[in-house]
Amino acid sequence: MPQGTNIPDLGAIRARLARLQAALADGMSRKRCLRRWSDFIRERDGHRCVDCHSRRSLSAHHICRKSFLEAAQFLTGNGVTLCSACHKETHEGFNRCPDLSQPVDAQGGEKLQKMERLYSILTDDAVERGLMHEEFYFLSDEVLACFKQMQGYAPETFFPGARVEQAYLVLAEAEFSTRRAMLEADDMPAPDRPLLPGGMYLVFAAQNDQPRESIVIQNYVPRWKTEPR
Ligand SMILES: [Zn+2]
Ligand SMILES: [Zn+2]
Repeated sequence: MPQGTNIPDLGAIRARLARLQAALADGMSRKRCLRRWSDFIRERDGHRCVDCHSRRSLSAHHICRKSFLEAAQFLTGNGVTLCSACHKETHEGFNRCPDLSQPVDAQGGEKLQKMERLYSILTDDAVERGLMHEEFYFLSDEVLACFKQMQGYAPETFFPGARVEQAYLVLAEAEFSTRRAMLEADDMPAPDRPLLPGGMYLVFAAQNDQPRESIVIQNYVPRWKTEPR
């Protein structure tokens, strides 16, 4: 196992999850639910910073801010344990009162690259520690659809991998609408399928009466393959 990896305490993680779920089911106060969410996140992450593996001054950070997307505030896949230094770094440049009618990056508020990176390291951490169960890293269809819409994709657009991995891939496609606009400006049809990391577009020249055509070549291998249902 890579350095800094620890053996998860499954019993303790499940117990923390049950306490969070009970708080939500019983309609406890938001503050208490957030406290239990935070307890779960730190237990799941083995009481260390998922980024630098420090064990000092830890807190559970919302990857997608709860003020930005309330539906994500208690989701297990929206939390990551960070030390105070990494946490401070992550919050740098965030403003506190987002205008939700503005594009997500417009006001120095949400930093898509930071969110993308955190979903990526969280996915790696879960896979390396053998802990990738969807309920431990859960993001709802609603939240994933919201990320897709932010990036110019239809809600049903398919992304592979576990849900946190999908969040990473959706956000990694930050330039999709720009790229589509550039392709279309050159009179090249832009496919609706996302271009995953390592993939490429192939554009076929127009022939006879056939228009130009572009296809997507994907090389991306999901870090965690979902079980067929
Ligand atoms: Zn750290
Ligand atoms: Zn935070």
